[in-house]
Amino acid sequence: MGKSSKDKRDIYYRLAKEQGWRARSAFKLLQLNEEFSLFDGVSRCVDLCAAPGSWSQVLSRNLKCPSPEERPKIVAVDLQTMAPIEGVIQLQGDITKRSTAEKIISYFDGQLADLVVSDGAPDVTGLHDMDEYIQAQLLLAALNITTHVLRPGGCFVAKIFRGKDISLLYAQLKVFFPVVTCSKPRSSRNSSIEAFIVCQNYQPPTGYVPTMTNPLLDAKYDESENQLAGPNRVIVPYITCGDLSSYDSDRTYPMTSQSLDPVQSPIAPAYKTYIDLKRKHEI
Ligand code: SAM
Repeated sequence: MGKSSKDKRDIYYRLAKEQGWRARSAFKLLQLNEEFSLFDGVSRCVDLCAAPGSWSQVLSRNLKCPSPEERPKIVAVDLQTMAPIEGVIQLQGDITKRSTAEKIISYFDGQLADLVVSDGAPDVTGLHDMDEYIQAQLLLAALNITTHVLRPGGCFVAKIFRGKDISLLYAQLKVFFPVVTCSKPRSSRNSSIEAFIVCQNYQPPTGYVPTMTNPLLDAKYDESENQLAGPNRVIVPYITCGDLSSYDSDRTYPMTSQSLDPVQSPIAPAYKTYIDLKRKHEI
């Protein structure tokens, strides 16, 4: 294969290939785990928006069950098809749909998950307000599905865009989790507004019944205290994570060795339809 210029400049992209991760995103979850010990005591996990699957790979390599006879249960969901990963149940579906929540629940045999992670991202348009809005809606869809499948005391981790309306999201998350932290792994570029929200100790409000019909934006937060602005605004701690000795994703590093093939080639890329039509002279 020809030498890709991406290989030369992106150290995490290169490391992902060397270590067998399908995407450089694997390092974001690994660094979040270093900071928050997310995987401790976790044997049932849901990976939302999981394709191409590097977070599922991280989970399958790191989750452990208390008894050696049992195997951790990992359910991975995405709109796109994913190549199989050993030990991961895969589900193609839309996380905004009730049917997807029901299918996830059915895989846990009546038990609930210990951890839900979501690296969901819409196709960005470049119109920042629009991208932030759609990302926020995806995060709320992930939170909504989480209220169906997470056990009390469990943890929810999701990608978030730190845009101007982030206080609204923080207020929503605080309704369900007493401990909410915004964290930026070193493998996530500083030039990106991406960060990850780590929500610990799931405690839904008393009497809360999970539903896929009420948008979570309607969930009650205390307006009298004006949690979105002013002195009582919900402020969550912001911490960077990843060891200081780990690579800086905004720097370039010289790389001398040969380029590497992808760990997993795309199995259903969008460009395949185009190539097929072109071959048949239909476009
Ligand atoms: N964590 C993944 C990994 O490590 O390989 C990368 C996830 S990628 C950044 C974002 C994913 O979100 C895409 O695969 C996309 O298909 C998925 N996605 C976006 N909207 C979705 C939706 N409504 N339901 C399910 N998946 C969705």
